[in-house]
Amino acid sequence: MAYEKEIAAALEAVRKASELCRSVQHDLVSGDTLSKEDRSPVTIADLGSQSVVCREIRAAFPGEPIVGEEESGLLRDNDELRVKVLGLVRAHAGDISEEEMLRSIDFGGGSGGGGRFWTVDPIDGTKGFLRGDQYAVALGLVEDGKVVLGVLGCPNLSAVKGSDERTGALFAGVRGEGAFVTPLGGGEQTAITVDSISEPAEARFCESVESAHAAHDTHGRISTLLGIRSEPFRIDSQCKYAAVARGDASIYLRLSSRKGYVEKIWDHAAGLAVVEGAGGKVTDMYGKDLDFGAGSTLKNNTGVVATNGAFHDRVIAAVGKAV
Ligand code: AMP
Ligand code: MG
Repeated sequence: MAYEKEIAAALEAVRKASELCRSVQHDLVSGDTLSKEDRSPVTIADLGSQSVVCREIRAAFPGEPIVGEEESGLLRDNDELRVKVLGLVRAHAGDISEEEMLRSIDFGGGSGGGGRFWTVDPIDGTKGFLRGDQYAVALGLVEDGKVVLGVLGCPNLSAVKGSDERTGALFAGVRGEGAFVTPLGGGEQTAITVDSISEPAEARFCESVESAHAAHDTHGRISTLLGIRSEPFRIDSQCKYAAVARGDASIYLRLSSRKGYVEKIWDHAAGLAVVEGAGGKVTDMYGKDLDFGAGSTLKNNTGVVATNGAFHDRVIAAVGKAV
């Protein structure tokens, strides 16, 4: 497979960050001292995760820009949070000084655009994380506006298809080459492919849990137009891309519920690589390729549709009728 060094570094970075997030979510779920409104666990895990990913990528590929969702400002002003993040990063990624930890978060201060750069969402699906549900650590590599590879850490999915054990899985994909899954805790790589369903009526589609993030009503109309009989598979984060990539679903619909919402590159880069590596197709709602070369957002696109590739045009046609 091409990009072997990049895939190896990305897997290692995402694995460590995923373990870090998993430990925080575990404390969150088992602890009774935290109120539901307290967002500090997700903040700590988010910043710790970005620190770990950026530090690993910078070490393997010095000088390559990284576009990350977070920055260190909040930690510089908050002693308590800073100490907690530092402890977590040290536990999962080795010794590091406080200043190095803060600087590594800000390695993610790239702005994207042309050329080659990485993009990271240190916790995608923060709502899911706080609910004790699914979330993902997402890292993609972009070259000249196109995603070339991506790794998704999904700490609450299983690497075994069909299993609902929350043992953790790392999904990786290289566009035009292939995709595979490996257990988060280490083990064999298994090739994955999208399903072979050729009739949209037989398909299962996935969408956000959060109705604020996706237009469930419009998705319902699209589903009816396609003759889909199964209920939507609602799951947080880029785990939706992982579901399409290994055939747990055939379609991922993401039409925004908020007019004018512009998607962020880190919410799609890794997922797109995994789905396209697995043989699927990802476009915007009009069937146009996603443009990752326009800065930190997909401002040249609206909505996202991912499929197994067998009936992408028919889904796009249904989207056109439904909106
Ligand atoms: P999900 O877990 O699929 O619901 O998506 C989580 C992502 O939705 C977050 O990373 C946000 O960047 C993104 N998001 C926030 N607001 C919106 C919105 N109005 N429409 C679409 N995505 C959104
Ligand atoms: Mg996100």
